[in-house]
Amino acid sequence: MEFNTSLSHSAQCLKQAIPLLVKYKIPVTPINYAIWYCYVLGSNVDLNTELDNILAEHGTCSASSARYLFDKYLSDKDLELFYQLSEDFQGTLESVQADIDSTLASSQSFNSALLLCKSNLNSLDKNDISSFDNVLSYVDKLTEESVLMQQTASSFQKKLQAAYSEISELKQALVSSQEAAITDQLTGLLNRGKFDQDIALHISQYINTNAISKTLIFVDIDHFKQFNDDFGHQKGDDVLKVVANKLSRHCTNKASAYRYGGEEFCILADFKSVSEALNFCQAIRKDIEKLSVKGKKTGKSIRNITASFGIAFYKEKQNLEDFISCADKALYLAKAHGRNRVEIAPAI
Ligand code: GH3
Ligand code: MG
Ligand code: MG
Repeated sequence: MEFNTSLSHSAQCLKQAIPLLVKYKIPVTPINYAIWYCYVLGSNVDLNTELDNILAEHGTCSASSARYLFDKYLSDKDLELFYQLSEDFQGTLESVQADIDSTLASSQSFNSALLLCKSNLNSLDKNDISSFDNVLSYVDKLTEESVLMQQTASSFQKKLQAAYSEISELKQALVSSQEAAITDQLTGLLNRGKFDQDIALHISQYINTNAISKTLIFVDIDHFKQFNDDFGHQKGDDVLKVVANKLSRHCTNKASAYRYGGEEFCILADFKSVSEALNFCQAIRKDIEKLSVKGKKTGKSIRNITASFGIAFYKEKQNLEDFISCADKALYLAKAHGRNRVEIAPAI
C-alpha cells in the first residue's frame, strides 16, 4: 500500500488483521498481532511474501513460523507495544463478556417471571372477584422485574460505551506509536527506516507498460558544515526544519519526503515525464533559495540557503542499491557543477 498513517487507514488495518487471524486459526498473541498488523499494512513486501508462502504450504502460520518471521522482520519494540495493546484489549473484552452474561441472566429471569405470570393468569377464575387482586399482584411483580431489567440494560449500555471509548483510545495509542516509529523527530518528515521500507514498495509497483516513472530524488543542503560553523548547530537545526517544511509542502499527492540522514533528504514520487520531475525539483530548489539568514542588527540577508538535487528514474529490473546509487551520482553531479542545481542520473 501507499504508506499513509491517517487514523482511518490504521483503523482499517486493525479491522483487517483480526479477521485474518480468525480465518487462519491463529491465536491473538502479541507476536501474531504484530506480524498480521504489518501484513495488512503492506509496508514490508518481503514479510508479506514469506507469510503468503507459509500460508500456501501449511494453511496457517504456526507459533514457530511466527517467531521466525518476527525475529527476521520486526523488533522487540513492536512486541512491547502489541503486548500492551493485546493485554488491554483482552481486559476490555473480558469485562464486556461478563456484562453480557449478567444481562442475559437478568433477561432470563425476566422471561421466567413473564411465563409464570402468564400461566397464573390463565388459570384464574374469571368469575371470582378476588382474581382482580391476583391480577394486580402479577402486574406488580412484572413491573418490579421490568424495572430490574431496565436497570441492568442501562448499566450494560454504559459499560459498552466505556468499552467503546477505551478501545478508541487504544486505537489512537496504536496510531500515535506507529507514527512516532516512522517520523524523524527534528523535522517531522518520514524517517530513514520508513524510506527503506517504502523504496522497496515503490519499485515493486513499477509496471513496464506504465507511463509513470518511479522516481527517487536526493536533496542535500549546500555547504551546511560551514553554516553550522558560522552560525551554530542550533541555527543549523532550524534550517533543517524550514527546508523540511518546504519539501513537505511540495510533496502532496504521489510524492513522499523523508529525512535520509544529516542534512540529506529524499523524495519518492511518480512522474509522467522527465520534465514534470525537473519542474517539481526546480520549484522546490527556488523556494529553498529564497530562505536566508538575516543579520540581527541590519536585518539584511547575510547568507542564502541553497540545496542540490539528484534525480533517478527507476529502470526495469534495476536493483535497489543501483537505483539509490544513480540518484546519489546525480546529486554528486549537481554538487560538482556548482551546487544549487538539479541533475538527472546519467544513463548506465
Ligand atoms: P556539501 O555542499 O558538499 O553538501 O557540503 P556540506 O558541508 O553540506 O556537507 P558535509 O557532508 O561536509 O557536512 C554536512 C554537515 O551537516 C556536517 C554535520 O555537522 C551537519 N549535520 C548533520 N546532521 C545535522 C543535524 O542534525 N543538525 C545540524 N545542525 N547539523 C547537522
Ligand atoms: Mg550538504
Ligand atoms: Mg551531505
